[in-house]
Amino acid sequence: MSERVGFIGLGIMGRGMAHNLLKAGFAVTVWNRTAARMDALLQAGATAASSPADLARRCDVIFTCVSDTPDVEAVVLGEDGVLAGAQAGALVVDMSTISPEATRALAAKLAERGVYFLDAPVSGGSEGAARGTLSIMVGGEAEQVARAMPYFQAMGKTITHVGKVGDGQAVKLVNQILVVVTMLGVSEALLFAQASGLDLEKTLQAVAGGAAGSWMLSNRGTQAIARDFRPGFTIDLQQKDLRLVLEAADQRGVPAIATSLVFNLYRTLQQAGLGHEGNHALIKALERLAGITVGG
Ligand code: NAP
Repeated sequence: MSERVGFIGLGIMGRGMAHNLLKAGFAVTVWNRTAARMDALLQAGATAASSPADLARRCDVIFTCVSDTPDVEAVVLGEDGVLAGAQAGALVVDMSTISPEATRALAAKLAERGVYFLDAPVSGGSEGAARGTLSIMVGGEAEQVARAMPYFQAMGKTITHVGKVGDGQAVKLVNQILVVVTMLGVSEALLFAQASGLDLEKTLQAVAGGAAGSWMLSNRGTQAIARDFRPGFTIDLQQKDLRLVLEAADQRGVPAIATSLVFNLYRTLQQAGLGHEGNHALIKALERLAGITVGG
């Protein structure tokens, strides 16, 4: 008999991931802080829980995908949180992006009560969550990774067991350095293309298949030249990840020059009230410096 599955956090990412668990035929119980966001999942066949503790009481494997470290701590350790309802032997899988150190502390608290834990942050954007093509980077014990694998396969395409608890989050921070530094390169390149009077669509078409091609260029570069700054991933949440990178880099004594530059460029956009826009709005910070607008 398959295990009972629960999903907490039905935001831009969580809603697509929970839908894909349902589509794969698993019985899914859901909880979201803003209850109305559960409606589409309930229509698709999910069951509603009244709190994270209630969800944990009904489930063997519990996924979380909420915003930041304190939010994961709140839904897992808080009053009416997962730990208040979970039975010994249950498995909690956190798919949010949060601090690797806080992740290890959380896993230790769950272990004291006989509850297993994996960190399994994701990459691939809202599109990857909706299509079930996410990259999932998993930290924890191999036996629990095998237990969660059928669910990971419903949500993602590239599933990598990268190491022990917390290592999934550390790899996700590596991913985020690559994402934002790539977006800085995409932004600078598009600014240059605009100043050169080039056809921006043809320019993207010409370079996307070569050595300069990337997911950020093809997806977010295309959106940027159409001036579609709706968020797949908001600047505010991106800044949370860059804060995690800069804190971890400081702890490890390693320079993070490009990441700190991008962090400060995003800071200017947050100050201008654009924190709710997508992370590809980074191009607007360069446009302001250059006095040039790209595309449109
Ligand atoms: P989002 O759309 O802002 O959704 C956030 C979710 O977390 C919502 O369900 C929200 O509930 C819930 N939440 C936040 N704080 C909470 C708290 N204290 N208690 C209970 N629920 C809380 O964010 P998202 O884009 O889905 O991102 C979710 C996680 O995935 C983040 O860690 C993010 O870094 C990571 N991620 C995102 C992307 C992306 O492209 N979007 C890609 C990879 C990883 P409400 O509905 O009540 O607000």
